[in-house]
Amino acid sequence: MAKVERLRLTFLGAAQTVTGSMHHLTVDDRHLLVDCGMYQGKRKEASQRNRNLPKLASAADAVLLTHAHIDHAGNLPTLCKRGFSGSIHCTSATADLSRAMLLDSARIQESDAEWLNRKNAETPGWEEVEPLYTEEDAEAAIERLEPHAYGEEFEPLPGLRVRFIDAGHVLGSASAVCDVGMNGHRRRIVFSGDIGRRQLPILRDPTPPEHADYVLMESTYGNRLHAPIEKMEEQLLDVIESARKRGGKILVPSFALERTQEIVFALNRLIKAKRLRPLPVYVDSPLAVNLTEVFRRHPECYDLETIGFGKDHGDPFGFQLLTMVDSVDESKKLNSLAGPAIIISASGMCEAGRIVHHLRNSIEDPKNTIVIVGFQAQHTLGRRLVEHSPTVKIFGVEREVRAEVRVLNAFSAHADRDELLWWAEKCGAQVRRFFQVHGDPDQCEALAGHVRERLGRAAHVPAPGESVDLD
Ligand SMILES: [Zn+2]
Repeated sequence: MAKVERLRLTFLGAAQTVTGSMHHLTVDDRHLLVDCGMYQGKRKEASQRNRNLPKLASAADAVLLTHAHIDHAGNLPTLCKRGFSGSIHCTSATADLSRAMLLDSARIQESDAEWLNRKNAETPGWEEVEPLYTEEDAEAAIERLEPHAYGEEFEPLPGLRVRFIDAGHVLGSASAVCDVGMNGHRRRIVFSGDIGRRQLPILRDPTPPEHADYVLMESTYGNRLHAPIEKMEEQLLDVIESARKRGGKILVPSFALERTQEIVFALNRLIKAKRLRPLPVYVDSPLAVNLTEVFRRHPECYDLETIGFGKDHGDPFGFQLLTMVDSVDESKKLNSLAGPAIIISASGMCEAGRIVHHLRNSIEDPKNTIVIVGFQAQHTLGRRLVEHSPTVKIFGVEREVRAEVRVLNAFSAHADRDELLWWAEKCGAQVRRFFQVHGDPDQCEALAGHVRERLGRAAHVPAPGESVDLD
């Protein structure tokens, strides 16, 4: 193993927050970036942060991408726009998912800028805004993706050997295990990426690294526990059967990546097990339709249950009454659809996309049900539904919430406190220091506290921009 003399970690993004993942490792005079996520938040701050990449990020010689979520991959086109010309290493499923995700994100950036410019065209002194990046920029980033199999070793920088292990969070998700020789010692630095729950459908369980010296680990639910995963199917059945009695529509606002495929697979399992009488199901989101196609192409990522299901019943993501809706016309036809039927549509927090049209159409009819299956950030329409607000504003019009709102909390792609601690313990007794990232400050601090008390290891919650020399 080639020897290096200097290793330095810098926490460029997702430090004491859950968005904009971006970490940096200096290896002598070379630069490795781990994730280049989009910062999501209030428009002005987000735009500022996403457009002004930190200098260290722009200096990257190579990138490791842990998974295809936009808060991890979404700002890669900006990096390429600033002149990055190295490789973006990721698993092969992440490469395929990122193609669809980045192109979709570019279209959103372009239409956002267009909308802003149109809206402010008459405003004196308005300076035309450029999109954060265009489809062309996204294509340039896509060309830099370099896929690897799980476990395959590669050398993104001289002297640094890396392999991806399964993080069990979304299809293709990985933790990056980085080995380097420094001043006569071997050092292993692990970037956890987002860690999934054990026993999530479709995916294998997260594989913790067997040994590590330094670990950056996510802390989204560092101090929370989820409902048991076995409740997922029961909850879903219960909601569908009570909606069926009323003859209404069931609207499921869902993230296009993973959650949609999980629900489709859960419905398929329930139907094949004859626990659910078939009813029409529509996946109404062009992005979700594309991503589901990627899921079909990557059975190497499936867990044994999903492989077994495929052998017995065929496609896990297809059944007789399931329709994938792509065109706008087909989507509009769903307005006049009579229930019972299920419509799964993006976006997951009801802020944009086709789900908003479906909500406008269906929210005032008590026959209908809205099923919330994902995290709802503050100030979103989804959050107001979770909080059982009696009225909500949709496209600027106040509407009464007469449909039933049900919240299913067993669906989560992130490990909870106990699952994170299980993963941390498996990293071994020799860990010199854990760094808690990707969590709100209270969640990071709580997890760091548990790591110190329960596992007896050093833990630190880095500040945004902080650098730490590794010895
Ligand atoms: Zn994620």
